[in-house]
Amino acid sequence: MKRLIVAFIAAIGICQAAAKLNVISATEDLAAIAGEVGGDRITVEAIARGYQDSHFVEPKPSFLLKLQKADLLLLVGLQLEIGWLPPLITQSRNSKIQVGANGYLDMSQFCEILEIPTGPVTRAQGDVHPLGNPHYWLNPENGRRIAKALQTKFSELRPDDTAVFAQREADFEKRLTEAEKRWDAQMAPFRGRKVITYHRSWPNFCERFGLVVVDYVEPKPGIPPTPSHTLELINTMKRENIKLVLVEPYFDLRAPNSIAQAVGGSVAVLMPSVGGVKEITDYFKLFDYDINLLTTTFAKVK
Ligand SMILES: [Zn+2]
Repeated sequence: MKRLIVAFIAAIGICQAAAKLNVISATEDLAAIAGEVGGDRITVEAIARGYQDSHFVEPKPSFLLKLQKADLLLLVGLQLEIGWLPPLITQSRNSKIQVGANGYLDMSQFCEILEIPTGPVTRAQGDVHPLGNPHYWLNPENGRRIAKALQTKFSELRPDDTAVFAQREADFEKRLTEAEKRWDAQMAPFRGRKVITYHRSWPNFCERFGLVVVDYVEPKPGIPPTPSHTLELINTMKRENIKLVLVEPYFDLRAPNSIAQAVGGSVAVLMPSVGGVKEITDYFKLFDYDINLLTTTFAKVK
């Protein structure tokens, strides 16, 4: 009997040592990169779905259950999730993931951030992005930085698996570098093309792949289209021979369609996130999808 108890206690010890790091991510993009680095040594789940507008997610009780059990919370930061995540963190009462705790990881601190406002920020500048553009994961270089930061954090929380995380991170970077060669080759004929985008979701993507964003369907970030701004856009596009309007999947297509129609151009519904459509199951497929769609549409509009 005594031996049995000893064995039982030993078994509990092993279970605890081997307990997988439970990672909860605000978005599917960060979850996808976490999965690349963590492999089977972690469990990872996203809160917002990739087809949702991550600025505006309706909180659900199930989110709270996920947060209560998390060892580590990943968020995009720069106020992307400010409308829905902070109260959930507080209500979870999970001390590991409270702001400033060891299991609270704002990934923006590791990335290159564009459009950081220089002067004072007022509501007149729009509803979102007061700290800089939070759509930074759409440049693979930032994907690389996110992976590296996750490797460090995972190793800190699960030191026994340090070697596994290092190997997986290196492998992710290698595959990303190979994929970038392919994406660059696909985009090469279209470098320097001017586009209009609905929301400011694409500065990192466009800078990386050589597209020029001239204006936005939203008059200001988070503000819906207005007739006067739409008319201005049509004039700009005619004057500068711009044919393509890029739209995120959760916006009303009426304004973009009428703009494209007025200039004999086209609308492309680009995916800003993993999970935006079913086939985008990982970080690589996100760029595959968007770059395939872009190059096809560019070829069509000339
Ligand atoms: Zn935004």
